[in-house]
Amino acid sequence: MNTITSILETMDYGPAPESDAVAQAWLEGHGRRFGHFIGGRWVRGARHFATLDPARGSELAQVAQAGPSQVDQAVQAAAAALPAWQALGGHGRARVLYALARGLQKHARLFAVLETLDNGKTIRETRDVDIPLAVRHFYHHAGWAQLLESEWPHHRALGVVGQIVPWNFPLLMLAWKVAPALACGNTVVFKPAEQTPLTALRFAELCVEAGVPAGVFNLVNGEGSTGRAIVDHPGIAKIAFTGSTEVGREIRKLTAGSGRKLTLELGGKSPFIVCADADLDAAVEGLVDSIFFNQGQVCCAGSRLLVHEGTAARLTDKLQARMARIRVGSPLDKSSDMGALVSPVQCERVAGFVDRARAEGAVVHQACAGGLPAQGCYYPPTLVSGVDTASEIVREEVFGPVLTLQTFRTPAEAVELANHTRYGLAASVWSESIGLALDLAPRLKAGVVWVNGANQFDAACGFGGVRESGFGREGGAEGLREYLHRPAPAAAPARKPARRSAAAASTSTSTSTSTSTRPLAAVAAIDRTPKLYIGGKQARPDGGYSRELRVGGELVALLPEGNRKDIRNAVEAARAAMAWERQSAHARAQVLYYLAENLAAQSPRLLALLGPLLGDAGAAAELDASVHVLFDAAAWADKFDGAVHQAPSRTVVLALHEPVGLIGLVAPKARPLSGLLALAAPALAMGNRVVALPCAAWGLVAAELYAVLDTSDLPGGVLNLVTGPVDELADVLAAHAEVDALWWPDASAAQAARVEALSVSNLKRCWVADEGPLHDPRTLLAQAVQVKNVWVPYGV
Ligand code: NDP
Repeated sequence: MNTITSILETMDYGPAPESDAVAQAWLEGHGRRFGHFIGGRWVRGARHFATLDPARGSELAQVAQAGPSQVDQAVQAAAAALPAWQALGGHGRARVLYALARGLQKHARLFAVLETLDNGKTIRETRDVDIPLAVRHFYHHAGWAQLLESEWPHHRALGVVGQIVPWNFPLLMLAWKVAPALACGNTVVFKPAEQTPLTALRFAELCVEAGVPAGVFNLVNGEGSTGRAIVDHPGIAKIAFTGSTEVGREIRKLTAGSGRKLTLELGGKSPFIVCADADLDAAVEGLVDSIFFNQGQVCCAGSRLLVHEGTAARLTDKLQARMARIRVGSPLDKSSDMGALVSPVQCERVAGFVDRARAEGAVVHQACAGGLPAQGCYYPPTLVSGVDTASEIVREEVFGPVLTLQTFRTPAEAVELANHTRYGLAASVWSESIGLALDLAPRLKAGVVWVNGANQFDAACGFGGVRESGFGREGGAEGLREYLHRPAPAAAPARKPARRSAAAASTSTSTSTSTSTRPLAAVAAIDRTPKLYIGGKQARPDGGYSRELRVGGELVALLPEGNRKDIRNAVEAARAAMAWERQSAHARAQVLYYLAENLAAQSPRLLALLGPLLGDAGAAAELDASVHVLFDAAAWADKFDGAVHQAPSRTVVLALHEPVGLIGLVAPKARPLSGLLALAAPALAMGNRVVALPCAAWGLVAAELYAVLDTSDLPGGVLNLVTGPVDELADVLAAHAEVDALWWPDASAAQAARVEALSVSNLKRCWVADEGPLHDPRTLLAQAVQVKNVWVPYGV
């Protein structure tokens, strides 16, 4: 027995190199020189840059650098291909996507080796993770193409989409973006990262082999300036970007007000929480998968280990022992656990973070089996302890195999530490108590939560973040939605003008410095003192100004003129009303029904107010519509559920619909009351808190709502109403760091541009200048939620 043990201890892995002969032959076949792929053919470039093998430092090929004229050529080709591609229909496109999936599968090993050569990640990962997942995305989206007409009626493709990806998952990111775009009938201009263009170039060839019509997929190579030229091109209907938060912010600014759709999949600093009752051996394996996978160059890497203080010593011992057995070496060696980082620059960047942490007094532990190779961009598995929430290495995304360690005492403290970051991409929770894990998961600010697991992905399960990790999802139905648009239905024939429509048309407001003017009694018989509604109370405006509301030239009321401070107070009140999120859907539905009931009970007053503005019939219809939207929202509150996905592994994935948080909204100009409620009610139904700006001309009608709100059971702060200069107040909402989303469906192009640019501060989700969703409850409700995928393993 002792002999066997000692033999086992002295045994080591022998080299198991994967041949790169086929990949090298493919490169040679192209003379190691590549152009762009535009309109179904190769287009030469004037300038070229080298793409390198980071493990050996050798040059793999020269690749052309696209400038604005090539990008324009690609956009033109994509635009020209659109009509025929859409005319092919869902089934026709499903056939093409299926052929792409099959083609990727048939050439799986070539793609895997090319990816390993170009990126430095191990062949084990490219062979077993990157390529199979890319294949799965094309199969899954062939299915969506097939079902598009039945499952997404009234939706349209966006047009030409620009897609920009980083170097960490080159082919997989391509699949995440290209498959849904094509399934929906869009055409694509795609830019890979300059460090890793090879698999995208081979994919362009595959498009020809699979029968993708010319111009449907176009590839332009280059650096950041090429990406910028795509972003700047007016012919692009949507930008899908994955990369750093810094560049994501820049793209948000550049696209503001352009009417183009945008999804941003940005950085992360994801927590890996190990509770006191966790299976520590499993958690250690989870950590290896989480932070050392792809050398830690993963946006959702669990880079912050948060461990219960009573467990920390045992876990650290086990982790350090495991790190010492990690083999860092040639990525083409099938027994290497970790390969090379993508470039010398990235290696230096990672080393810089660790050196600075060490200089600040952190304890750095580095280990691996047999040491690092003498040459190449290698960095060892690293554990950094003795750090706190203020340390740079805990705050910033390192994007390397570097794990920080902090401890907590209670689950509540774990949540607090986990959420102490500007990012919100992913989280892992390790506990043998499913009750505890599923209690923590909804409290974590993240787009994905893995229970007793890490870095699991599937095409059916949307992936994406919250906060500064970006917005939008990739994968699943929620990802598909990002490539579709639901246009507003064609305008109904003009109705007979209402009796007092002339007066309504001349409704106007202007600021007054007087608060003592007595309004003429055209609408309200008794002097009314409308106020703002903040935190469940009527409040006088901070500035002490009022605005005249005139109908047909006649002064009917003085509306309170809210200002920046009132918005801040309203946001503060909404922040404090967090408990609304945790109310059951049933309870929220009851409140909305009760609101409708109270609104109907106030009908004489409301009709008296609306009648002179809309005519008697118009007023009755408006009131009816208002009750209707409240009933609609109440009805949906407990029905717009998430989904359960069955991922291929032994895991159920709970796609939870979570409220977006605090929504600022600007009510549409068209309908005085039902327009405001049409936005606010679904937002409330899904558990959001709202700060609403009633349209200036209808402020008095909104003021009447206060009485209804006061008599309903809506907790204070859940819905706040601030009348005043809409543009100015919307700007304050857009720039406010505590506001998670801004809705302004009938914003003009200039208004949309302004608020989208201001929203950059916290990368809030903006829904502006797009009235399509207003006509479809499901699309509207989808705006009110974000999907959190919670992965729960099962089996023993
Ligand atoms: P970038 O965000 O700079 O690049 C991502 C992609 O965008 C690349 O294709 C890049 O081109 C392109 N790009 C760069 N600048 C612009 C621009 N102004 N307009 C349009 N496109 C542009 O990430 P990096 O690759 O430089 O990595 C830097 C850091 O970002 C990493 O260390 C990591 O922290 C983070 N990162 C996060 C990722 C994530 O998935 N969350 C992925 C990658 C990086 P090119 O690189 O070819 O010049």
